Amino acid sequence: MNTMMACKNCGAEMYKTGICARCDWHVGWMPVAQHSDGSTTFVTERRHTFMAGSLILATVIGIIAVVASATSGSAAGAAVGSLLTAAAMVAWKKTRLGKVWTGLPPDDRLAAWPGVFVSVALAIVCIPITLMCIAFINMARLDR
Ligand SMILES: [Zn+2]
Repeated sequence: MNTMMACKNCGAEMYKTGICARCDWHVGWMPVAQHSDGSTTFVTERRHTFMAGSLILATVIGIIAVVASATSGSAAGAAVGSLLTAAAMVAWKKTRLGKVWTGLPPDDRLAAWPGVFVSVALAIVCIPITLMCIAFINMARLDR
């Protein structure tokens, strides 16, 4: 679990799950101000709501596809549905539901890419449903 990565802020080697020893950055934070004494102020990365809504949508559509295929006996539909759900879940987990993207380590971003890509493509196709998912996120105050 404790793999090393280069700090996104200063480039120093750090643990992916820890805090940078040189500048105090950690995954999910964005630098907002550089001070004359060399220290940096960070804020939590804002949730990418559209991405989060897309991931929820893709997960739900994937599950519906699996269930629908199971009842109609379509193996292809079940395969596509489970792939979609799996990809969306990986992206969901890696980005903490859209909360970390800019500061995501490259290998995690790579792992999240297929899910994000497919989810966003789906979200654009089903834009009214996507907007409902985003409204749900805002209503549930997942932003905090
Ligand atoms: Zn650093």
